[in-house]
Amino acid sequence: MKIAKLHIYQHDLPVKNGPYRIASSVVSALDTTLVKIVADNGLVGWGETCPVGPTYAEAHAKGARAALVEMAPGLIGAELLPLPIHRRMDALLAGHNYVKAAVDIACYDLLGKHLKVSVSDLLGGALTDRVPSYYSIGVAEPDETGRIAAEKRREGYPRLQVKVGARPVEIDIAAIRKAWEAIRGSGMRLAVDANRNWTTRDAMRVSRECPDIPFILEQPCNTVEDLRKIRPQVQHAIYMDENGVSLATAIAAAGSGLVDGFGMKVTRIGGLQPMTAFRDVCDALNLPHTCDDAWGGDIIAAACTHIGATVRPALNEGVWLAAPYIEGNYDARNGVTIADGHIARPTGPGLGVVPDEAAFGDPVAAF
Ligand SMILES: [Mg+2]
Repeated sequence: MKIAKLHIYQHDLPVKNGPYRIASSVVSALDTTLVKIVADNGLVGWGETCPVGPTYAEAHAKGARAALVEMAPGLIGAELLPLPIHRRMDALLAGHNYVKAAVDIACYDLLGKHLKVSVSDLLGGALTDRVPSYYSIGVAEPDETGRIAAEKRREGYPRLQVKVGARPVEIDIAAIRKAWEAIRGSGMRLAVDANRNWTTRDAMRVSRECPDIPFILEQPCNTVEDLRKIRPQVQHAIYMDENGVSLATAIAAAGSGLVDGFGMKVTRIGGLQPMTAFRDVCDALNLPHTCDDAWGGDIIAAACTHIGATVRPALNEGVWLAAPYIEGNYDARNGVTIADGHIARPTGPGLGVVPDEAAFGDPVAAF
């Protein structure tokens, strides 16, 4: 099975009750990029990538489409198997993992449809059909953070993430306390995510002033070197998120004992193929991690849910989806949604999601 055609689409995803506010970005609408690959046997597969605006990471929506246009002519005729596709993409363009992920996901969707198995089976096999999610509260006033935390506790989320940063650290500490008061005793786990924004001074202060609250510090500071500086001085566990820009950086962080776990994005690491290697490294080292995406619609949501279903349950920190923050689904019948804090693994071959492509309009480029 080989790539016969590749179409690139742009689609806007407005944020419900927006804007969504994190330390590194404020977003009111997301600009997502979809890839449709048609195989030489007529089967169709879909991929997607959606940076959270241009300042969350070294990635942006127009860059995604430009990189796809750069690679597309060289991908026509390529064998539709994940490793050869990655080798081919690496020979056409250096870096740009977040773009290669869209092609990787479409390749898995096609392979699953061809073999009549789900993507989670291709990734080793699902360990659950009810994949845990977590809710992320954007940067908000402490009382509002507490109110939403109580609401998400009632909704059955097993884990909560509180966004902090880009304001006086005293307010962050107050918000963390309000969240903890709302979920204490429920068994809900807590992550505090500064999205690279705190100084090492702030991170150490938060840990020192909250010794009674068992949160993990997610990407508290900007660089790997910052994490290394605070590591021996804080008593809370540290997870790496934005600094884990590739499989190599994640393996180095895991192997050197720099972090206790990861927030990992399927697109940042380059797609489902490198994500399975990352999952297995974490499994071998007993490191918990998420299987998220930044943003996006049903395609990226399905991809994250399939890999999330294959993570050892004790290490599974959940699959974050943009679904609660955006209107509607690409696939009205099989769209990916969260209920009781969990996601039903899509059934059906491949990703198990078939988008209504009429919603995307004409492709911005076709090869
Ligand atoms: Mg994060």
